[in-house]
Amino acid sequence: DRQASFGPNIFVDSQWQPFRAQVDSYLQHTWSANPIVNGQQIDKTVAQQLTAHTVVAPWDHEVVAGEVVYADAQLASQAIEAAIAGQSQWQQVPVAERSAILKRIADLYEQNYCQLVAMCHKEAGKTLQDSIDEIREAVDFCRYYANEAERLSQQTHTFTDIAGNEVTQKRTARGTVVCISPWNFPLAIYTGQIVGALAAGNTVVAKPAEQTSLIAYFGAQLMYQAGVPEYALQFVTGAGEVGATLTSSPLIDGVVFTGSTQTAQHINKSLYSAERVVQAGSEQNTAKELPILIAETGGQNAMIVDSTALPEQVVKDAVLSAFGSAGQRCSACRVLCLQQDIADSVIELLKGNMAELVVGNPSNVTTDVGPVIDKDAQKGLRAHIEAMRNDSRARIIAQTPISSESANNLSNSTFVLPTAIEVDGIDVIGGEHFGPILHILRYEASKLDELIEEINATGYGLTLGIHSRIETVADHIESRTKVGNTYINRNQIGAVVGEQPFGGCGLSGTGPKAGGPRYVARLMKWQNV
Ligand code: GLU
Repeated sequence: DRQASFGPNIFVDSQWQPFRAQVDSYLQHTWSANPIVNGQQIDKTVAQQLTAHTVVAPWDHEVVAGEVVYADAQLASQAIEAAIAGQSQWQQVPVAERSAILKRIADLYEQNYCQLVAMCHKEAGKTLQDSIDEIREAVDFCRYYANEAERLSQQTHTFTDIAGNEVTQKRTARGTVVCISPWNFPLAIYTGQIVGALAAGNTVVAKPAEQTSLIAYFGAQLMYQAGVPEYALQFVTGAGEVGATLTSSPLIDGVVFTGSTQTAQHINKSLYSAERVVQAGSEQNTAKELPILIAETGGQNAMIVDSTALPEQVVKDAVLSAFGSAGQRCSACRVLCLQQDIADSVIELLKGNMAELVVGNPSNVTTDVGPVIDKDAQKGLRAHIEAMRNDSRARIIAQTPISSESANNLSNSTFVLPTAIEVDGIDVIGGEHFGPILHILRYEASKLDELIEEINATGYGLTLGIHSRIETVADHIESRTKVGNTYINRNQIGAVVGEQPFGGCGLSGTGPKAGGPRYVARLMKWQNV
């Protein structure tokens, strides 16, 4: 169960105590990370010109999580070359063997569960429950994509054509894929991208978010231990400029990216620049196709509530969707749209529920909302709250205070108070704000279709929540909204790998959906023999 339910509900008491003790002992550790190219650990002893960066726990900057050596552009280019050199060898590894390696990664993640939970918690500042869910999802990605590789290989089709030729149609790898992953799912999305690309037979250059390279580095070590050859996976740390070097390389065959819409647009421009399109079609380069882009980006996700909805259920689901994981999910609910007749009673309950949320140190098991990832994120979110406070079309209606323990350490942490803001239109919000901020918009029943148009007009299309006890109303809304994932009468986060493929359209991404049957397939191409 990966629903971001508040509290350690997946463990019975007898399992919880020893688990907690082990996690606590790992929390005393500090870790380090550096690039790995062709199996070589590139630390400061090998490359003195590289810079090392300290990583601190988001809830207390005095607590050091570790140190990361960043790659530079030259190393990034070497990583690409190494991955390209390994292509044909990895493609020759039989699918059953590749798939067995990926399943061994899942086993190793499970064997190292407590350390991974501790790392996710300390480096990304996630609550313990979110960290538990995170590792679970990473494990699911390994097993699901391993099975996908086998299923797709069985689709090879041989027949005699009308002219008597024996024809085989089969899938093959694309080549070398660059995987750029976000800090908000530092193990799950990171792993999903890599194992998806490896399952398809591609070699990979992986660059995790600079905020969460420690857990990614440990994940890479476990991948090698599981049998991923050193030539098949290159691990590159660093910030945006390293990512830009990777994605602008003319040698790559694809990019898998999760992060901001703006960065995805940059990558898109560089992959499909006029120059590259001409090169791909040139006589000197007949074998090279244009690279593919799989992008999963932001959202301005709405939950539409009609007057037949159950207010208690609406509030429970909206609070979880907006404030769970400190609102740092691209699926999170950003705009709660309440039909006028039910708005006052929902808002009243919402205020009560928000007053009960525990905001503070995510190491306490009772904490519901931990810190946001870093100072930059905190600054942007606080600036938005201030802008809304001064906007005549917006009103702050509830804000949860921080727990007294964490209140003493505000300058050394990155908390943002869960905030509910009533707005007069979605345009007032001005884009996606990636944190614990929920906007509320009232609408008249007769204006439902205009509301749907307003939601579609944002250009985003990731998740949508619907709360109604009339099926035809839910169907009406569902069939007119342009989003990737719609959730009816429940929360709108926590898509389950293999069962609820996740991904959006428009400004929210390209598809194919992660954890779904078109993902590994997209990382392959058809060949006709
Ligand atoms: N898959 C996650 C969910 O369904 C969101 C992923 C993301 O935030 O990038 O909540």
